Amino acid sequence: MSVPMLDINRQNQPLMDEITAAITEVCKSGAFLKGPAVKQLEEDIAAYCGTEHAIGCASGTDALLVALMALDIGPGDEVILPSFTFFATAGSVWRVGATPVFADIVPGTYNLSPEDVERRITPHTKAIMPVHLFGQAADMTALNRIAKKHNLHVIEDAAQAIGATEGGQRVGALGTIGCFSFYPTKNLGGMGDGGIITTNDAELASKMRVLCDHGQEPRYYHHMVGLNSRLDTVQAAAIGVKFRCLDSYAEAREKHALRYNERFKKLGLCDVLGVPGVAQGRRSVWNQYTVRVEDGARDALQQYLAERQIGSAVYYPVPLHLQKCFAELGYKEGDLPHTEQAAREVLSLPVFPELTKAEQTEVIEAVTAFAAEARTNQKRDAA
Ligand SMILES: *Cc1c(COP(=O)(O)O)cnc(C)c1O
Repeated sequence: MSVPMLDINRQNQPLMDEITAAITEVCKSGAFLKGPAVKQLEEDIAAYCGTEHAIGCASGTDALLVALMALDIGPGDEVILPSFTFFATAGSVWRVGATPVFADIVPGTYNLSPEDVERRITPHTKAIMPVHLFGQAADMTALNRIAKKHNLHVIEDAAQAIGATEGGQRVGALGTIGCFSFYPTKNLGGMGDGGIITTNDAELASKMRVLCDHGQEPRYYHHMVGLNSRLDTVQAAAIGVKFRCLDSYAEAREKHALRYNERFKKLGLCDVLGVPGVAQGRRSVWNQYTVRVEDGARDALQQYLAERQIGSAVYYPVPLHLQKCFAELGYKEGDLPHTEQAAREVLSLPVFPELTKAEQTEVIEAVTAFAAEARTNQKRDAA
């Protein structure tokens, strides 16, 4: 049996009639931008996250960009962020002309280490940009404490974590501004690109809304240079249908993740496999289920699974501080040891909500067989 890493069609298929009806309605109305479905989704997401405001935009990347612009972060300013994340986190900082300052992660959660963040604060630091990686909130309590002490903004990159909580509060409401993505593979995936920005600050909210619309207020009067970044009404209508299923998706992901953990522990694989943990006081929405495979065996496991038509993925093979485009920042190998080790060891296994029990069993059995072979080889080498 082949097992895909992700099957978006399985998720969308049961909703297809509703989605096409919602899209058709938008097409008939002609209100392709700023239509009622956009306003509805903004209200829904704000209520869901527990923030006063939500502003639709064209992508998660734009959400980050607009957040930085709204906080007047630019040349000469530094933003502290993880290197172990998707490119857009650092790309957005670079785009506004500010300097990304990469901090290391906590090995157990793959999220920003508050201690390392504090160590990297300089008089030029303007913001901390934690990422809630793989669906688990970063240590926002500690990061907010540091931010408060040093008078810094906190921009949450919540692209992978809609619905995740710390201390019972949802991400997007834990910092100054929260940034979300509706990219199809995210927990609330649209039919293309889309994003949304959350905040409790009314002034920032209206500024971000204007920035997303060329900085014009009213039309053709520009006090700021903004960008064209809007959430299409068609997109909002489709996402609105899926939004109603969001919690059930998260529950299914959690169920799969806990079963993996339970099985891998029971099978005694934890010497070969590092299973993911959730820090106290947090609830993950499991955008990824990510294991660690030590001693250079990660690629071998991925190949082993691929030969059995089982999907897996490496998020992320090259940390951002070692990317060519950031060479001029002067980072070198060894600068962020936990980040670099994670990049060598992580492998994400299928955890999408619609994964069947039989498929998951197939993944578990293949991983178990790989571990057994690895142990046999170790013993033979030792003999
Ligand atoms: C997906 C993602 C983004 C970017 O979102 P897009 O909608 O694809 O632009 C930013 N940060 C993280 C951590 C992501 O996973």
